[in-house]
Amino acid sequence: MTFDQDIKSTVRHIPDYPKPGILFHDITTLLADARAFRRAVDELVHPWAGSKVDKVAGIEARGFILGGAVAHQLSAGFVPIRKKGKLPHTTVRIAYSLEYGIDEMEMHADAVQPGERVILVDDLIATGGTAEGAVKLLRQIGADVVAACFIVDLPDLGGAAKLRAMDVPVRTLMAFE
Ligand code: AMP
Repeated sequence: MTFDQDIKSTVRHIPDYPKPGILFHDITTLLADARAFRRAVDELVHPWAGSKVDKVAGIEARGFILGGAVAHQLSAGFVPIRKKGKLPHTTVRIAYSLEYGIDEMEMHADAVQPGERVILVDDLIATGGTAEGAVKLLRQIGADVVAACFIVDLPDLGGAAKLRAMDVPVRTLMAFE
């Protein structure tokens, strides 16, 4: 099997979750496979190995798991971007749209210093609404968003293109139509 097929086959697909008409791409099966998890993290960080990255920002909740591993690999700090009301200190907040709803996310206002180089991480990019909100939050507090990384891209929904139009380089490991 090629690298791509090998990793790709560990993702599970669940029709009509969390509501009818949505095909949910479940990466918990990739995370539970030791070899796939390691290879996915290695491959995600590959372009930045040895370059200066100050912080990795992970989007709740699956972005925390990947983001922590990526931050460790790059010797960077980790910053959580969370659903509203979960962070204890002063936050910046933004509303964003999901493939299946609308929500608000926030991060600590002092989590990133102006000019710091930040990589954004989440499990999957669909419409790009979540990642777009995260990039706006990071830029609001002065971060230099050097890239956004996702295991799964749903290219038909245009999220990666949306981020690239915001001058954010995007790295994804696999795509599902
Ligand atoms: P979006 O804002 O539309 O790019 O949606 C991306 C966010 O929603 C990520 O945090 C994903 O975990 C989650 N998500 C959206 N659509 C799906 C899907 N079809 N399967 C799994 N997760 C999804």
